[in-house]
Amino acid sequence: MSPLDTRLRGELERLRAADLYRVRRAVDGSHGVDLTVGGRRCINFCSNDYLGLASDPRVAEAARVALGRTGTGSGAAALVSGYNGEHRALEEELAEFIGRPRVLLFSSGWAANLGTLRALFGKGDTLVCDELNHASLIDGARLAGARYGRYPHGDLAAVETELRLARDAGGEIGIVTDSVFSMDGDIADVDALSALAQRHSASLIVDDAHGFGVIGDDGRGIATDADVYVATLGKSLGAAGAFVAGSEPLIEYLIQRARTWVFSTAPPPAIAAAARAALRIIRSEPEHRQRLHANIARFRAGMAALGPDLPITVMASDTPIQPLIVGDAAAAMALSRSLYQRGYWVAAIRPPTVPAGTSRLRLTLSAAHTPAQIDDLIEQLRAAIAECFGAATVQNPVPEPMA
Ligand SMILES: *Cc1c(COP(=O)(O)O)cnc(C)c1O
Repeated sequence: MSPLDTRLRGELERLRAADLYRVRRAVDGSHGVDLTVGGRRCINFCSNDYLGLASDPRVAEAARVALGRTGTGSGAAALVSGYNGEHRALEEELAEFIGRPRVLLFSSGWAANLGTLRALFGKGDTLVCDELNHASLIDGARLAGARYGRYPHGDLAAVETELRLARDAGGEIGIVTDSVFSMDGDIADVDALSALAQRHSASLIVDDAHGFGVIGDDGRGIATDADVYVATLGKSLGAAGAFVAGSEPLIEYLIQRARTWVFSTAPPPAIAAAARAALRIIRSEPEHRQRLHANIARFRAGMAALGPDLPITVMASDTPIQPLIVGDAAAAMALSRSLYQRGYWVAAIRPPTVPAGTSRLRLTLSAAHTPAQIDDLIEQLRAAIAECFGAATVQNPVPEPMA
């Protein structure tokens, strides 16, 4: 065995021993709520396709028509010859929808965050970041080479302290936050962060991957007026890619300097066509969003009825992300496996994605779930908890929200 493989085998053994080894399951066919995996049907409760648009036939048809017209690949970066009329139309429609001057498409949210933070900040600057920010924001801030002012989750007093330290250090300052936190489902106090940013001459950078299309007036998202607004097209829009929205100079500057954009092949035009079709549906059919929010309320009421004595913690969340904190990684895996055997797919999330001791089921709701599926999921969850933790622990109402 090569020295590299010897080292990797050792690391893999350690992950396995700590119940942190990860594997994939391949889905056959479409990634809707009702899907087939390993030849078996199951109901998906862990996708970010919150509105069911990833398997909406109208979105797929728009992509198919565009594929016929534009082919598969864009063939080059956007600054060379890869920029297509479909890309431009999507950028203009997104900008108009959220009421910002300009939008720039990236091939992924990961690329958008890395490219943008690295372009806008550097050595001598400070990025003030919530400790639960998405991994791509953390890596983007590190790549920028700026001072990293990490503050405890949602702690505005600590933000202020970091801003004072940043001012003393000199340089540019950015406050960087998820809007909806991807593993906890809670929402950042973006109004307070925006006021702090103004008071301290800092810029506000908001990653709205889980808010865009789902939350806010007509699904326009959260904090679209931030200095730098980032959202993805692979979640509520059911397509792929991401965009940054903001002022004219911001977008023109990113076109000159965002390396993950400048040096990366433009996404397939047909994907932009799919996102355009999804955006049209979001704008003209509020019923999907209404059904999603009714599903969230139904799930929360059903969980409350399971009682306060659950051996898991039901986090307080009004968003489609509903984490069930188990704690131990092996126990989270066992609960996920038990649900899977009962026909429900709810992925377990373990460290390093979440802090040690907070392994969880990250359950997500979609407009495409039926009330009956939600009710049965809760019934199966009750049975799975009894199977994994002992029957005596599951009784009577009122959940314990976790701070
Ligand atoms: C999913 C996600 C991203 C990454 O977006 P991709 O398009 O999947 O690369 C970035 N930020 C947050 C908060 C996310 O949830």
